[in-house]
Amino acid sequence: MTRFPVRKVAVLGAGVMGAQIAAHLVNCKVPVVLFDLPAKEGPKNGIVTKAVEGLKKLKPAPLGVPEDAALIQQANYEEHLSLLGECDLVIEAIAERMDWKLALYMQIASALAPHAIVASNTSGLSITKLSEALPESIKPRFCGIHFFNPPRYMSLVELINTPATQPEVLDQLEAFVTSALGKGVVRAKDTPNFIANRVGIAGMLATIHEAQAFGLSVDVVDDLTGKKLGRASSGTFRTADVVGLDTMAHVIKTLQDNLGPEQANDPFFGSYATPPVLKALIDKGALGQKSGAGFYKKVGKDILRLDPAKQDYVPAGGKADAIVDRILKKPAAERLKLLRESSNPQAQFLWAILRDAFHYAAVHLQDIAESARDVDFAMRWGFGMKQGPFELWQDAGWLQVAGWVKEDIDAGKALSTAPLPSWVFEGPVAAYGGVHRPEGSWSAAHVRFVAPSTLPVYQRQHFPEAVLGAGAAQPLQSGTELFKNDEMRLWTLDGEVLIASITSKLHLIGTGVVEGLAKAVELAEASFKGVVIWSPDDVFSAGANLESLMPVFMKQGSKGIKPVVKQLQDTMLRMRYAQVPVVAAMRGIALGGGCEIALYCTRRVAAMETYVGLVEVGVGLIPAGGGLTHVARRAAEAAGAASVANWANADIMKFATDGFTSAAMAKVGTSAIESQKLGYLRDGDIIVPHKDELLFVALTQAKAIFDSGYRPPARAVIPVAGRSAIATIKGQLANMRDGGFISAHDFHISTLIAEVVCGGDVDPGSLVNEEYLMTMERDRFCSLLDHPKTQERVMGMLSTGKPVRN
Ligand code: NAD
Repeated sequence: MTRFPVRKVAVLGAGVMGAQIAAHLVNCKVPVVLFDLPAKEGPKNGIVTKAVEGLKKLKPAPLGVPEDAALIQQANYEEHLSLLGECDLVIEAIAERMDWKLALYMQIASALAPHAIVASNTSGLSITKLSEALPESIKPRFCGIHFFNPPRYMSLVELINTPATQPEVLDQLEAFVTSALGKGVVRAKDTPNFIANRVGIAGMLATIHEAQAFGLSVDVVDDLTGKKLGRASSGTFRTADVVGLDTMAHVIKTLQDNLGPEQANDPFFGSYATPPVLKALIDKGALGQKSGAGFYKKVGKDILRLDPAKQDYVPAGGKADAIVDRILKKPAAERLKLLRESSNPQAQFLWAILRDAFHYAAVHLQDIAESARDVDFAMRWGFGMKQGPFELWQDAGWLQVAGWVKEDIDAGKALSTAPLPSWVFEGPVAAYGGVHRPEGSWSAAHVRFVAPSTLPVYQRQHFPEAVLGAGAAQPLQSGTELFKNDEMRLWTLDGEVLIASITSKLHLIGTGVVEGLAKAVELAEASFKGVVIWSPDDVFSAGANLESLMPVFMKQGSKGIKPVVKQLQDTMLRMRYAQVPVVAAMRGIALGGGCEIALYCTRRVAAMETYVGLVEVGVGLIPAGGGLTHVARRAAEAAGAASVANWANADIMKFATDGFTSAAMAKVGTSAIESQKLGYLRDGDIIVPHKDELLFVALTQAKAIFDSGYRPPARAVIPVAGRSAIATIKGQLANMRDGGFISAHDFHISTLIAEVVCGGDVDPGSLVNEEYLMTMERDRFCSLLDHPKTQERVMGMLSTGKPVRN
């Protein structure tokens, strides 16, 4: 495959999706120009400008940092069509109207670069029909690119070809969307609503139908169909409110308009009618979250739910029955059997919606997807399910469940009388006991199991996400193991780089992690090119394991803790001064001690969704694993860079203040990009859009750094800001305390932080070393442990998981 460099992308339409897609492109460092119609009044870019401004306030945040909104180039079709000529990829995301989209294509066609890929983000219009208005020269480079809302966070992108799309175009786009944008790509056929919305919306309609049949209220249904069922925590009705009930109705209408008896004759057509309850809400203008009311309504602090019988809102809070809760915790086979056999209406409801989902997916597989894997991935990545319908079915026992579904169809309980396809009961799927097996997943269209894509981009994923039954390698059982304790596994995939995987709960740092890290450095210095700290799950480390320190503290007080802290600090220095590079591969939270581990690595590579911060003040402590020493060192380095001639003269305090503030306020970056702005990732560090490429990039980095002739940093002395800076900061803190913004204990903790980052009671520009600063960290940390207010914070956090404000 030839490379397809994407130097710039044009997004057409600055609505809900277009603006957020543009934001995500910015997050991924892809230059983007965002178009909309010229405004009728005021500046012609008015519509786009308003949309870009809106991005800064939207929740969940579409941008890594709001100020990056300025990187979106603004344009309108009247003045700036020529900008399209600079774009390698054009994503159309205007309103869902075939005629409007076609008119726009006509308007832009002559301005497009001849090599550009043009793709529509339509939710369900026919890509082939859309392509018909295009000049012949563009047709081979046209396809569907269906993002999910919110595009920064939802992994799924469906790519849809027309009969005229060149296969290479889709391959190139798949590589870009996967690696550069970090998305999970599923190839979908050009059928109404493609895969995820087709199966997902049919599932929501079925849920509304069965909920009514079993007399369940929306809050109970959401409790049953959220996390407990392994689905998105917002359940069914709350998800509908978030998506927008008008948007949902739109997607339903696509089913109604395109799948009737005259067109596709979908056997489930009867179940695509708009539910009266949905129609009534839309007619009233209750469109969900965006209009303040939908299936739910927030009044002050109270959440109310719709009571369709009363046509009004009543207090929400209904939950699953305890018996159903218990059933949902059982393994799949037992769970489904119990749900089906139970006389509890909630259990029967759950069996009914699962049966409907299996029935629907099996009947439609042949028409809508290449294989069952694509259906399951679409539901995982587009609807936040832990398992797609085929995975759950297979997990619960293929033929057993198939028999139950058939019984219900025969008894007229299902949503359609269509029988399950014959491949369910006969042939290789029945013989194997499921649709997913190590060599591939079942394709009803090709009547065989098909392997996952072998595009080169997937070689960047050592452990790609896999469906249940695919027999994917388990990272923590893979490679060659060199060392293991209760909290860590040291292993290698390639014999060149050592991988250190933290395995403790939330990757909390106890003695096992400290021992494991020291061991990793020792082993790597002897026989590897470097160490990569990586784990397969989505947390880097939640910090020190305070609970594990309790027995020592109870017995010996803070005196007993001091050596433990010293050992942690020594390990940090061991990593920093190792003879080989140590690379942190970060994803999810890296807090407190977790953040410090990353800071003491040679380099950090971080997935886009990485949240880093020194949060110790939340439990009444200060960072003492070298975090504050790092802040002091960074300030000196920055001041040195700013005043090349004589760094001792530079205003170190100016640079120490940012680090001080972040630690004193326990600021956490809300993305890898913001974490970088806070100084927890450095300029040379790498942000990786796709979580499954993290290990590949980290290993590549470790090898490249080593092969470039790595030497650890020199043990330089550190000029510090000294006593005058501490006095200044203390003055500001006193104002905050006296103004009631911080408590007396906050003042005390912040003062201790200021003392360490400024190097204590010394003259400005005094030279100190790391051991000196770390001793300060340690002493102050232990003094806090003895403080009753800190003890209150620690105990509060350990017992409730919530910070205590005192
Ligand atoms: P939207 O209504 O928020 O935005 C549509 C944009 O199109 C507006 O900025 C509008 O100015 C512009 N527009 C309207 N008429 C136009 C015309 N005649 N010519 C040019 N521009 C015009 O819509 P949205 O929700 O962002 O959806 C955009 C596309 O993305 C649709 O095809 C939709 O089906 C699809 N989509 C939406 C979602 C979602 O959750 N909202 C998810 C996936 C895909």
